[in-house]
Amino acid sequence: MSYLRLVRNFDTIIMEFKTIIEPFKIKSVESIHMSTEQERIAYLEKAHYNPFLLKSQEVIIDLLTDSGTSAMSNEQWAGIMRGDESYAGAKSWERLEFEINDLTGYPYILPTHQGRAAEHILYSYLGGAGKTFISNTHFDTTRANIEFNGATAIDIPTPAAKDRNSSDPFKGNLDTTKLDSLLAETGSDNIGAVILTVTNNSGGGQPVSMQNAIDVSAICKKHNVLFILDCCRIAENAYFIRHFEKGYESVTYREIAEQMFSLADGAIMSAKKDALVNMGGFLAVRNEALAEACTSLLIINEGFSTYGGLSGRDMEAIAIGLREVFDADYLNYRIKSTRYLGEHMREKGVPVIYPIGGHAVYVDAGLLYPHIPTDQYPGQALVCELYKIGGIRAVEIGSVMFGKYDEDQKLVPAPIELVRLAIPRRVYTQSHIDYVIEVFDEIIRNAKNTRGLRITKEPKFLRHFTAHFEPM
Ligand SMILES: *Cc1c(COP(=O)(O)O)cnc(C)c1O
Repeated sequence: MSYLRLVRNFDTIIMEFKTIIEPFKIKSVESIHMSTEQERIAYLEKAHYNPFLLKSQEVIIDLLTDSGTSAMSNEQWAGIMRGDESYAGAKSWERLEFEINDLTGYPYILPTHQGRAAEHILYSYLGGAGKTFISNTHFDTTRANIEFNGATAIDIPTPAAKDRNSSDPFKGNLDTTKLDSLLAETGSDNIGAVILTVTNNSGGGQPVSMQNAIDVSAICKKHNVLFILDCCRIAENAYFIRHFEKGYESVTYREIAEQMFSLADGAIMSAKKDALVNMGGFLAVRNEALAEACTSLLIINEGFSTYGGLSGRDMEAIAIGLREVFDADYLNYRIKSTRYLGEHMREKGVPVIYPIGGHAVYVDAGLLYPHIPTDQYPGQALVCELYKIGGIRAVEIGSVMFGKYDEDQKLVPAPIELVRLAIPRRVYTQSHIDYVIEVFDEIIRNAKNTRGLRITKEPKFLRHFTAHFEPM
């Protein structure tokens, strides 16, 4: 009771005062080299106008990703020292297994070195030629692991996701009408699994409602197909359910997550997101036979079943992080600080994907720079401007990342020219965020004169990581 009251009081405090204070004190610091614009122009040229090729010391605010970039707590660092590095049956494993079981309710837990290793194990076992997987949106490593084994991955996001003007709070939902008919059409024998990604990372970081998970679960049961949660950001998702879905106002974030896990047959997690660590992941399932088959693959690919691809100290840190992430003060700060950035950018006229999701703000660079044609990459122009003006590193997820060439070597652009500003957890303070907002004043002032870029060198696959550019 007293805990709940404290949470409510905290909500009111946040609403009364505009300033979002970090619910932590800083004990260890990492200095940032405050480069000048002159220096950054030289760094950018040396990196061939591709921020992936910058050194991290050349960056002031790094918003490239929220994956594996979290700051660990003093408790997690203490756990690192307690790590039991025994090959089999380590205490740290017992602790991790207990925490994951307590949270998910699943009896079989397989530790892996990161999310994609768990995906590789589960989807190579369930997949292969002739199999189909269906998701609200497959994350890119999920899709790659499914397709690499010859299976098909189909995305069926809710129609609201495409509606720019809709302020639907759950644009991460899966289209359940389509799911029902797709399952009937395909037949349960040909389905690998239905995967609900919470929050929907590749769909703008948008949350999924509990009602949607309930409906997906019922449809999967009806057709007798496996229902897997990709639960990388399930705590952030729980925040949105509590505050935007009727009936959850007084349910704790952790209980909301537990309820969502109870609807599925298993889960995959990259601990580099909501477990607040720099490396790690797991697979957890209900079914014993499935667990046994996956454990064989785990031992072949990752390591013995009581450590997978992890050190004992990593397992300690994940166990502690999985508990800390549901702290009401932390989640309040986390989601509100992302929203604060997005809302302020929107007020300045920056075209952002709306409503703001949990871990990142997405800018539509095509709308910001309507004068730059898609084959001159408006998103890449924005990431270069952000770096040059403010030393901010963001990532283009438009035609550089997803564009393809047709037979005449003409660019087939991505559907939308996005730039993602992902917020590492517990790393930057509000003054860092205020600085990012201020940099956008200059971005807007320069918008009309900002030029596009041409690609001068590119590899055949995943070109965004290593391509070279030149300003037009
Ligand atoms: C990051 C991520 C993964 C893959 O996890 P890694 O730890 O990077 O291998 C899978 N699904 C989603 C939704 C993710 O965000």
